Amino acid sequence: MRSRVSFSPQNSAQYLLRIDDLTPCMNAPAWPALCALIRRHHLQPILGVVPDNHDPALGLDAPDPQFWPALRALEDSGATIGLHGYRHLCSARDFGLVPLHRRNEFVGVPEATQSEWIAAGLQILRGHGLDPAIWVAPRHGSDRATLRALREHGIATISDGFAARPYRHLDCTWIPQQLWQPLEKTHGLWTICLHPSTLTPAQIAELGAFVAAHSAQFTSVPRVLEEWPLSEQSFRDRLVANSAILRHHLRRLRSLIQPRRVCESRSSSSQ
Ligand SMILES: [Zn+2]
Repeated sequence: MRSRVSFSPQNSAQYLLRIDDLTPCMNAPAWPALCALIRRHHLQPILGVVPDNHDPALGLDAPDPQFWPALRALEDSGATIGLHGYRHLCSARDFGLVPLHRRNEFVGVPEATQSEWIAAGLQILRGHGLDPAIWVAPRHGSDRATLRALREHGIATISDGFAARPYRHLDCTWIPQQLWQPLEKTHGLWTICLHPSTLTPAQIAELGAFVAAHSAQFTSVPRVLEEWPLSEQSFRDRLVANSAILRHHLRRLRSLIQPRRVCESRSSSSQ
């Protein structure tokens, strides 16, 4: 196993890798390369699994018989399984608590339905021998009802939000997710979210070089919860988060005006 660095939130950045949109029927040529990278560097990522995917954008191929065994092996090696929605059908039309996308799966859906979806999703993942421990909302779509339903079913850790440290908010622990590509940081906790269905070989190579240079700084959800002090999200924290979200929308607006910046927009549009 790789050694841990002596960590202080003030003097060293930490990174969490998060891989979204995982389903047994996915069309994701990058997935084997990501698995190899995880094994090579003993990474302990968040694996965002769609329990019952109906979204054709993620692929509706014949199920890969190695998918669930591979996830179980990765979980045994320290990965944290994330509940990535239920069917990934983003037909809701409201902004949620992290207002990056109006179209998402859960926001505004009646709480009883959200609770049913979450229960069914957890049952599917547990039926495959996994232990989902964190919520990974499709397109950042969670509202207060989502959080209540998650807590009702035993999930109180959220991978989302803009901050440089984990925090408490609405009776949940939020592990922020702010990056869609590897970027060097001087301090703080940074979750890099990737989508294997859209990753190019060049992006995989870029990730591989980044991980090789920073492997000791990659952490895991259990370590984050153990090592980082937690406090309630403050008014200042909310200002910082809101300004980050505003910058995100301005970047997307610029990319619409300037088509040549399409790549940047794509990298910041989490599904
Ligand atoms: Zn997704």
